[in-house]
Amino acid sequence: MTENNLPNSKLGSLQYDPAPESAAIAKLKSSYGLFINGKFTDPSKHEQFETINPATEKRLATISQGSTSDIDKAVKAARKAYDNVWSKTTGAERAKYLYRIARIIQERSRELAVVETLDNGKPIRESRDVDVPLAAAHFFYYAGWADKLEHAGFGNAPKPIGVAGQIIPWNFPLMMAAWKLAPALAAGNTCVLKPAETTPLSALLLGEILQQAGLPDGVVNIVTGDGVTGSALVDHPGVDKIAFTGSTGVGRLIQQRVATSHKRLTLELGGKGANIVYEDAPIDEMIEGIIDGIFFNQGHVCCAGSRLLVQESIADDVLRRLVRRVEQLRVGDPMDKNTDIGAINSADQLKRIKELVAYGEQEGATRYTSSCELPKKGFWFAPTVFADVSQSHRIAREEIFGPVLSVLTFRTPEEAITKANNTNYGLACGVWSEKGSRTLWTAERLRAGVVWANTYNKFDPTSPFGGTRESGFGREGGKHGLEAYLNV
Ligand code: NAD
Ligand code: MN
Repeated sequence: MTENNLPNSKLGSLQYDPAPESAAIAKLKSSYGLFINGKFTDPSKHEQFETINPATEKRLATISQGSTSDIDKAVKAARKAYDNVWSKTTGAERAKYLYRIARIIQERSRELAVVETLDNGKPIRESRDVDVPLAAAHFFYYAGWADKLEHAGFGNAPKPIGVAGQIIPWNFPLMMAAWKLAPALAAGNTCVLKPAETTPLSALLLGEILQQAGLPDGVVNIVTGDGVTGSALVDHPGVDKIAFTGSTGVGRLIQQRVATSHKRLTLELGGKGANIVYEDAPIDEMIEGIIDGIFFNQGHVCCAGSRLLVQESIADDVLRRLVRRVEQLRVGDPMDKNTDIGAINSADQLKRIKELVAYGEQEGATRYTSSCELPKKGFWFAPTVFADVSQSHRIAREEIFGPVLSVLTFRTPEEAITKANNTNYGLACGVWSEKGSRTLWTAERLRAGVVWANTYNKFDPTSPFGGTRESGFGREGGKHGLEAYLNV
């Protein structure tokens, strides 16, 4: 290859030959039914839609649109399985199934990673090293709790809630399914899961894995479809609990809908995470942390560090290094093992990102965008950093949910706290400093469910994750995550 047709050549960054993962292992079916009562069944209304690969815009498979009556069937199957089987199964028995599911996810990890990357557009490196291992880890972790619920700190005889309706987004399709199903099943509930319409494939593959694990029929039901399907699940009187991850707008709607019912609710919504950088922070690690905080998964991350708050004394240096690093990020084929930034998940999401970025320019922020070449087909957005951002700018207040970082500055720790907390959200923040006491002082004052110190986007099944304020309520992960599925 010549220098000229390669991106980033002007910075002299290392060049790599393409190293694509093979799609052959995915073995996708042409169309998928709904997973109800242990079997894949045709939707009652025979309505279907297509899921595409956002990197190529090519159709991957035809998916069933679950109707109100399909949701009804799924909820009834879940109820029957709860009454007759799952609520009578001992914790140790439930644990065996969860361990088995975890093991099969590991065994089929390559297939799952490929399917996830094809359907979602995220780099194979991330689906292989983050999404799939963490999904397995969640099942392993909650398997461990299934026979120890009385030691989880919720009294000596905590009881399951019943049938859980679970609605998940498209940014971490398999991982979100695992975050929802594993604690619910460990605690003795049965489930109806509604995956996002642009990324249903890994959940359907999980349906096959549940069959392979011999999970009793009806314990987990997977009904694909759009917001109409999700809405039918929220409204079904046979559901005892709703767990939702997605946008704050839909979360608000769901909260209103269940307000007068017996249903329990947990919401994991958007965010506008502040990544706070003090002048004494270890600079190279911190630059990588900022990059990972916003560009991981194309920035389609609710806890993304999308607002960088940098101490004024080092702001110029940090910005220069950031822009340089952004220029070196490899954007392109998500199936290539060297890709850092894959495709934007949908045309809709790309439109939203472009709108907010246009506001950023209009409102006077300074834009730096990577000069990387973008593929002709598919949905792409080059990694972008905005400097000179002020608190009132829309790009400092609204969740962009894309590879776009807004940089603000501060002089004193007090100012950093005031700016970080000046948001309606409260999901996650990061603090970078060499000094432990300063980090703790800062963490105590941040209004956020999660604060990372000298790192970012660290997920672990043992540690609780969730928000405050408009980022929602309830925790997933850790023993806190059990509380959402127990009558305590
Ligand atoms: P969304 O909230 O519309 O979708 C999330 C899930 O909810 C999907 O499964 C969807 O089918 C379902 N849904 C939609 N309307 C529903 C309704 N009325 N009742 C029940 N279920 C419903 O999210 P989106 O449109 O895909 O993304 C919009 C914005 O949401 C993004 O730009 C981003 O800011 C935010 N978002 C946040 C997260 C997160 O992890 N917190 C994930 C995805 C999107
Ligand atoms: Mn898709």
